[in-house]
Amino acid sequence: MSIATNLSAIHDRIARAAKRAGRNLDDVALMAVSKTFPVESILEAYAAGHRLFGENRVQEFSDKAGTVVDLHDAEFHMIGHLQSNKAVKAAEIFHAVDSIDSAKLAERLNAAAQTLNKTLDVLIEINVGGEEVKSGIAPGSPELERILAAVPEWQHLRVRGLMTVPPFTDDPEGARPYFRQLRELRDRLAVRSLPSVGLDVLSMGMSHDFEIAIEEGSTCVRIGTAIFGTRSKP
Ligand SMILES: *Cc1c(COP(=O)(O)O)cnc(C)c1O
Repeated sequence: MSIATNLSAIHDRIARAAKRAGRNLDDVALMAVSKTFPVESILEAYAAGHRLFGENRVQEFSDKAGTVVDLHDAEFHMIGHLQSNKAVKAAEIFHAVDSIDSAKLAERLNAAAQTLNKTLDVLIEINVGGEEVKSGIAPGSPELERILAAVPEWQHLRVRGLMTVPPFTDDPEGARPYFRQLRELRDRLAVRSLPSVGLDVLSMGMSHDFEIAIEEGSTCVRIGTAIFGTRSKP
């Protein structure tokens, strides 16, 4: 299967899931997760009309960035755990960071974006499953409150919403309660009308569970395997 064929099959499945859920198709973005795949895969998806991409390593994307810099209307988001000491490089090569998991990281990114005279879209990553091996902030944690309170100070970050990677379950239905938790957290934060905190984006759902995520309110599904194929590297 070509990347173009896979993309169009995923678009069809997104459309069906949105319809089932009574949602507007325009409210669900498809992010192609190109991590571990060569830059040629990105070019191939771009040639097929795709524009939104996710990568999870600064070094890896930094190697691809020189080649994709000419794809002016393409957008590249960092979706993996980001160490604060790589914030400067990340701010330089990415359009957005969807995996903010500490106030310290946000602060570093803001400072880096200021230096570069740009504004970065960001999402706060929530660890809904409470898994120790996963990054992300616990829903009721003091760190989340620290971040929410500091958002107005970060003038070079635009907080757009929340992101999560739920615990893996063989049955995609197993992810539903976690997706629902993220939406409910978003709704609870929204009623607080926190200054400068945008909450329109819910980034959730991957290759094996994105239809469930759409039913639970996802506005951005992050698909790797189902577009580019099975990854050989972790
Ligand atoms: C790899 C990755 C994806 C895509 O996973 P697939 O199962 O290949 O679709 C989505 N989100 C994050 C954060 C990832 O690291």
